Amino acid sequence: MTLDNIKEEIQKAKNIVLLTHESPDGDAIGSILAMYNSLLKINKNVDMIVPEYSSVYNFLPNADKMQKEGKKEEYDLAIALDCGDIKRLNGFAKYFEDAKVTINIDHHGSNTMFADYNFVNPDAPACCQILITVLEFLNIEIDIQIGTCLLTGIITDTGGFKYPGTSSETFEFTSELLAMGVNVADVYKKVLEVKTKPNFELTKRVMERMEFLEDSKIAFSYITKKDEEEVNAKTGDHEGLVDIGRCVEGVEVSVFLRECEQGFKASLRSNTYVNVSDVCLMFGGGGHMRAAGCVIYAPLEEVKVRIINEIKNYLK
Ligand code: 5GP
Ligand code: MN
Repeated sequence: MTLDNIKEEIQKAKNIVLLTHESPDGDAIGSILAMYNSLLKINKNVDMIVPEYSSVYNFLPNADKMQKEGKKEEYDLAIALDCGDIKRLNGFAKYFEDAKVTINIDHHGSNTMFADYNFVNPDAPACCQILITVLEFLNIEIDIQIGTCLLTGIITDTGGFKYPGTSSETFEFTSELLAMGVNVADVYKKVLEVKTKPNFELTKRVMERMEFLEDSKIAFSYITKKDEEEVNAKTGDHEGLVDIGRCVEGVEVSVFLRECEQGFKASLRSNTYVNVSDVCLMFGGGGHMRAAGCVIYAPLEEVKVRIINEIKNYLK
């Protein structure tokens, strides 16, 4: 069984590197830090190599140990967390490819099973929720520190326990954490409720530009690099903007574009029936049924038309 292999490889390895996807969100950071704090407990040498991330997560235990470069040429073991595709490790894929053994722990339905051992459960609402099972199997006790990291991923990837993937296990685990002394309300507030000023300013622009297309079943909006410069946006300040359109009555798919190098990063969210992961796969991206993304290298108008035309095929 995969978990037996994972346990054996972790026990064997001396030097371990933890990796996650580009533009890491709360589940990516929570998973990395939960694993890091857990592996320290069993005396492993662990490096976390993490791309630019939001300062919102700096309160998590050992967040200051996340680094941009690995210390070693070659690791005994590389573990990718919350990452559906090796391409999304971006500049860090070399650490994965050069490692002696590789593990992929994830919950994306579009996961390409790119490691030696793949523990992937698309039914889990967060990678952090899968880690509960993994840590139990490794006999590593979930303490307040590890629990706080896991809770961060669970809260962010379930939108605060409100997305359909939220399971009874999600609530049971949160209840256990609460009983253990984890400050659930504080984590919730820090990772989901408090907005930065630039995020607030971007929200205003996204709302102002919001268009409702295809009988108002599609909500569309965008931000440019210029917008981000003008409001002094930092990494992560665009997070959550795609949800604005999704919450409007009658909307099935929300499309949010963010200008990037030579094109636009598209974020898609759906409410009940459109599989946005399938839509994004058409453009080389992926994700989950109700939340997915891709990058399209074209000007704004062209990106808009191509995405809207693809979504039309799925609308009832
Ligand atoms: P977001 O819109 O928040 O960037 O991403 C939504 C979901 O889709 C996340 O689970 C994210 O990991 C996944 N995702 C976003 N962009 C891509 C992409 O380009 N490729 C793949 N495979 N998944 C993506
Ligand atoms: Mn996730």
